Amino acid sequence: MKYVFGPVSSKRLGQSLGVDLLPPKSCTWNCVYCQLGKTMKFVTERQEFFAREEILDEIRQALTVNKGLDWITFVGSGETMLYKGIGWLIEEVKKLTSIPVAVITNGSLFYLPEVRAELLQADAVLPSLNAGSEALYTKIDRPAAGLTFSQHVEGLVAFRREYKGRLWIEVMLLGGVNDSDEALHDLAVVLKEINPDMVHLVLPTRPAPEQKILLPSDERIERAIAILSEVTTVVHPLKGNMDLRSAPDLLKAVTAIISRHPVQQRELQTAIADCFSGDNVKAMEVMQEMLATCRFKLVEHNGEPYWVMHT
Ligand code: SF4
Repeated sequence: MKYVFGPVSSKRLGQSLGVDLLPPKSCTWNCVYCQLGKTMKFVTERQEFFAREEILDEIRQALTVNKGLDWITFVGSGETMLYKGIGWLIEEVKKLTSIPVAVITNGSLFYLPEVRAELLQADAVLPSLNAGSEALYTKIDRPAAGLTFSQHVEGLVAFRREYKGRLWIEVMLLGGVNDSDEALHDLAVVLKEINPDMVHLVLPTRPAPEQKILLPSDERIERAIAILSEVTTVVHPLKGNMDLRSAPDLLKAVTAIISRHPVQQRELQTAIADCFSGDNVKAMEVMQEMLATCRFKLVEHNGEPYWVMHT
């Protein structure tokens, strides 16, 4: 499949079928922690990158083979809301199934009324907010020219006013960057103004190709939870894991996921072993065969081996 991947399992979204609407990498930001690597050329113009009917057709097919899904999640190889027509896709998916729809986005285009309008039918929207000040926003998210911190916050505030679904803000906590008390208090002030239903604190557990990113210490994570909990509900999700059991072609399914983000070797091994009734020896054999295709390579991040695509 070209657009649909997974299902991927995670604490926050359970079994989620991913739908990628963008050619890699199309983004309005160039985050220091981005798993997709550097944004070589910013994209800020919204487009229908692929025919919407083609995407809907794949979703329709995937729904016939994947049972027990908790969410259908629109997430892009870049900024999801760059896809013009996502609102139509959400509405059409809702005609096909009662499975709720989530959208993962950086939120940078929420200042545009037409972007906010396209999201009103989604059941959950998960925009990013990594900083409570212009300086940290610029340092972490490194936006395209013309996109400012105040515009980002105003867009989120306006969306909250209009949107009746679940607004779950994702905060990426980076060791030594936005985990100081000062940065967290700034963030809390902005979060209070936005008034989300929840904050998902996420950690840079996957390798970023561009530069070394540090995990925050346990003490800093606890501190972040304490400070942000003063203004909203904070969840610190466990790392997701994959469910490949319904994949008709294991190599294709693994390629589809790893081409979107690095996968921890342990997580991959568990997911493959689950396809063979928990047989770890078989899983290792399959992984050796996959490595022999030269499509993947191993990189180390925070002392853990990860699978990434061979470039
Ligand atoms: S918004 Fe997402 S895709 Fe874009 S640069 Fe940041 S992490 Fe990467």
